[in-house]
Amino acid sequence: MFVTAFAFLQALGIQSVNGQETCGADALHEAMMENGGEYARSWVHFEAAMRSQHANRTLLEGLVTIPTVVHIMHDGTAEGVGGNVSLDQVLSAINALNEDFSGAPGGADIEVQFCLAARTPEGTPTNGIVRVDVAASYSGYVETGLITSLGGDAPNEWDLKTLSHWPETDYLNIWVVPQMNSGGNPLGFAYLPPMTGMLDGVVLRADVFGVGEAFDLNFSANLNRTLTHEVGHYLGLYHTFNATASCASSEADCSSAGDRVCDTPPTTTGWGCAAGCPEGMAENFMDYTSDACMSAFTMGQRDRMRGALTEHRSSLLTSLGCVAPSNDDVGAVALASPGASTCQPNVDAEVEIFNFGTEVLTSTTIDFQLNSGEISSIEWTGSLAPGTGTLAALPTLAAGYGAHQLSVWTSLPNGNQDGYAANDNVVHSFTVAPGDELTFTLHTDSSPMETAWSLTEDNTGDVFLSASGYENATDADQTLSYTGCAVEGCYTLEVTDLFSDGLGLWPVGWYNLTQSDGTILAEGSGNFGASAVHSICIEGMEFTGCEDLNGNDICDDAEPVEEEEEENEGESSDAVNGCSDSSACNYSASVTEDDGSCVFALPGQDCYGNPAAGLDGMGQPNGNEGEVNGINDLEFASSNWVLAPNPTISGQLTAMGLPETGTYTLHVMDATGRLIVQNSVEAIPSSNGAQVTWTDWSLPTGCYLIGLFPATRPGTHLPFQRLTIR
Ligand SMILES: [Zn+2]
Repeated sequence: MFVTAFAFLQALGIQSVNGQETCGADALHEAMMENGGEYARSWVHFEAAMRSQHANRTLLEGLVTIPTVVHIMHDGTAEGVGGNVSLDQVLSAINALNEDFSGAPGGADIEVQFCLAARTPEGTPTNGIVRVDVAASYSGYVETGLITSLGGDAPNEWDLKTLSHWPETDYLNIWVVPQMNSGGNPLGFAYLPPMTGMLDGVVLRADVFGVGEAFDLNFSANLNRTLTHEVGHYLGLYHTFNATASCASSEADCSSAGDRVCDTPPTTTGWGCAAGCPEGMAENFMDYTSDACMSAFTMGQRDRMRGALTEHRSSLLTSLGCVAPSNDDVGAVALASPGASTCQPNVDAEVEIFNFGTEVLTSTTIDFQLNSGEISSIEWTGSLAPGTGTLAALPTLAAGYGAHQLSVWTSLPNGNQDGYAANDNVVHSFTVAPGDELTFTLHTDSSPMETAWSLTEDNTGDVFLSASGYENATDADQTLSYTGCAVEGCYTLEVTDLFSDGLGLWPVGWYNLTQSDGTILAEGSGNFGASAVHSICIEGMEFTGCEDLNGNDICDDAEPVEEEEEENEGESSDAVNGCSDSSACNYSASVTEDDGSCVFALPGQDCYGNPAAGLDGMGQPNGNEGEVNGINDLEFASSNWVLAPNPTISGQLTAMGLPETGTYTLHVMDATGRLIVQNSVEAIPSSNGAQVTWTDWSLPTGCYLIGLFPATRPGTHLPFQRLTIR
């Protein structure tokens, strides 16, 4: 996909006039959108979130500082000569960037600042500057500088960034190069926020980087505004002239047209000190005017950049990149156990401690407190290298049944004062309830953003375990486990995929749900379409805990733990009637007595009435095709219902062609798979089968999945339909 991207970039460079604020960000973005795939999906998600934040005013507050690393990708010249820019030039650039983002030249205060990193990804001290002699690896670099066409000669962008790159989740990467394309354009380029991975960051020519007469700077781009402009892109801004054909263009919806910012007037490309249109804003950093004529971001651009930070670049907000490492710095970062809920009244908690210091950690004090009880402590000893973590076990807690909060904090690493207190403590909430511990294990496919799942208790409708909002950048191809204590009863497990391809994006994913004794209650893998549903039932168990005689919340030696399990009274009978043939559509693993109710798929069809698929696009058997545990109504699962009108804006919406009248539960899921609406609706007779009509339908612009669950058939739902709100 990058071949196309760089072809665009090259074309842009050739057409541009030297000295203008020539920027390759648009071309990169458009090319990557045209190629579709993960970037385009992420972008749709990102823009929907931007509009939602805009509508709901859920904006980040306070000053934010972004850790920044400057990679000086020189061609073998001495420090301070040519592209091997001096420390002073780097400092002048970061200083000028911070001035522009503070609003000092006359624009909005973005309340975003940039620090040169004080800590490397490995946790060692740094001044935030890395110098790399690219010519030592690519001799042609002396003649050409960076070649921005990937199909062209080395060193191209990938070659260059491979030589020096820090994790984009913790740092803004800025690469400074002596020249690009043998002295041609662009001056710089950056990637918009859906970008992740190696290429994410800002690339700039050395002659537009920094401010000062001592430096060899371009005559019309000598105030560092190229960096300000590119960092604007990095934080989600378009050019002010984006998607604006002429000065007569109007923006019917300014949050989705043009530059998607409402307080920047529609304009075409500016030049020198003049905006492209009479109403245009020549001083805007996101135009192409000369450095000396630029002075402002707007409040609308501020909102969009801060929104991008929370929506896509939130890991920067918790990065320790700006915090200089100290010799002795230990932290409690997470509770490895218990999970959110457990069945055992005696809790064996394990805390993950991490050595953020530069010295090997050999000892630390770990204090802990259950609820508002007595504070206890243990001494941890061992050998923990800088930048690594380990698990430390706490004494067994006499928690008992109920909701609890466990606080854990560390102090005195190696017997010394801790160098950074903000990472010292962790607070974890959990519940102890009688029942059986269930574990849902999900191995994500390569696009986990599309995946959501929930385990719901049938009687109460309560969601017992669930997760969604996975990030492609961090959660792809991962094994994730969730445990909880399930009380006796029946549950519905539903795994959904926003783009109707299950866990089928290579490498494909899988999931299973197991009991504490290892019994597999449900499982699936690969492409199962828009959703897979399993109905399961479990029996509850109650455990006896230790008696906490001295009231310190700990099971001390004199307070032995009862290991015996006692089954609940009034346990249901062992016999479960249903279909026990695993090849049937309504097979249930919990059935002990086959009552002859098995229903089988028709020849050549799956249980939904869709044509049976043997292999998916990756040549992998579709393990889940036809597996519809617990679904016992073929007519329902294959119901051919529609939403109309679709796409729509708001107002009246009708679900027609429903298989029967009566009560349904409506589920509306947003683009992240999160359930945002759940309520009860009544279907009435009509000429198109049963139907439901809403007269005051209103949702933010975006794409949604609509589910209807018939009240008469627990655990069953009609096929999900996609609804687009414009
Ligand atoms: Zn630009």
